[in-house]
Amino acid sequence: MRLKKPMPRKGGYRVTLLPGDGIGPEVIEAATRVVEASGVSIEWDRQRAGREAIERDGTPIPEALVRSIRSNRVALKGPLQTNIGHGFRSVNVALRKTFDLYANLRPVHTIAGVKSLFSNIDLIVVRENTEDLYSGIEHQVSPGVVESVKVITARASTRIAEFAFRHAEEHRRRKVTAIHKANIMKLSDGLFLACARRVAKRFPEITYEEMIVDNACMQLVLKPQQFDVLLLENLYGDIVSDLCAGLVGGLGLTPAANLGNRCAIFEAVHGTAPDIAGKNVANPFAVILAGAMLLSHIGEKAAGNRIEQAVQAVARKRSGRTADLGGSASTSEVADQIIAHLAASPRAAAAS
Ligand code: NAD
Repeated sequence: MRLKKPMPRKGGYRVTLLPGDGIGPEVIEAATRVVEASGVSIEWDRQRAGREAIERDGTPIPEALVRSIRSNRVALKGPLQTNIGHGFRSVNVALRKTFDLYANLRPVHTIAGVKSLFSNIDLIVVRENTEDLYSGIEHQVSPGVVESVKVITARASTRIAEFAFRHAEEHRRRKVTAIHKANIMKLSDGLFLACARRVAKRFPEITYEEMIVDNACMQLVLKPQQFDVLLLENLYGDIVSDLCAGLVGGLGLTPAANLGNRCAIFEAVHGTAPDIAGKNVANPFAVILAGAMLLSHIGEKAAGNRIEQAVQAVARKRSGRTADLGGSASTSEVADQIIAHLAASPRAAAAS
């Protein structure tokens, strides 16, 4: 079950680009400029999704977008808006299902100089991405009574556990913690745990532990250093990801990879941030770091590392940060500084 990576084409890699809604176009613009400045040749295949696509194409996921991702096998995506309590179903969820992007990988670590609750956090959130309460199966039983169906399967639980352990093994991580509520949801979370336990037996060199989700949230806030790789179902993974982002300084810092066996979509953990959209003040670090993850995924690890190092260098200075991190730089100024740092640092220095 190896993830297939796209091959470079003549003239560079072709990557599907979804600017998204709200702050999406601003942070994606910053990220594409930085990725281009890394020296890797990329041809962006710009596509519409979500609200813009509904207005122009009559559907949130146009056929052209599906064809583009199938053919390019890798995409960089801005956040997409989902209406609360009404309207079309989440395009994010639909994209993950369409391409069977079953693993959501979210690294969370402190960046030196950025004010945060802890100084030495380095953990990985592995979130199952295709089922759970995100199955979207909801109905009204009678007026005033509704049901949402939580779907957990052995197949999806086993493959996400395998992904978490393999990732831990490949990146020399020491521990996987499965987070659950099997004391209450004995069948669904019980099945998830049974699958994780079976997989854990095949990786004896990696410590396996389990924690009930409410306790895990408290432990994360009190003593996050005890965690290494977190393995979660879809809903807990969504919530705990934002909690972890809060531990290191906020949503402006955390990237995400949605990985399947054929395709991958890279994005920030954050949403469309409508409260700050269109003002050129959004923090672009998260989506720039998603761009760095994308480069590593396609085999351009040295370029990805250089971007990460440039982000860390720029974030260290107050003048290199947006307002959410206590600075006053604009989105585009942060990108300019990262690009200047890339230009000033020799390529070989960051290669690994
Ligand atoms: P949000 O992540 O958009 O915003 C939460 C808070 O964090 C806001 O105060 C916002 O200003 C701040 N924030 C987020 N990103 C930031 C950045 N880069 N720089 C500075 N501040 C930032 O979450 P929300 O308000 O709950 O959701 C808004 C919309 O985004 C909803 O429609 C939701 O469905 C959607 N959403 C999409 C994705 C995705 O596309 N993957 C993820 C989460 C939420």
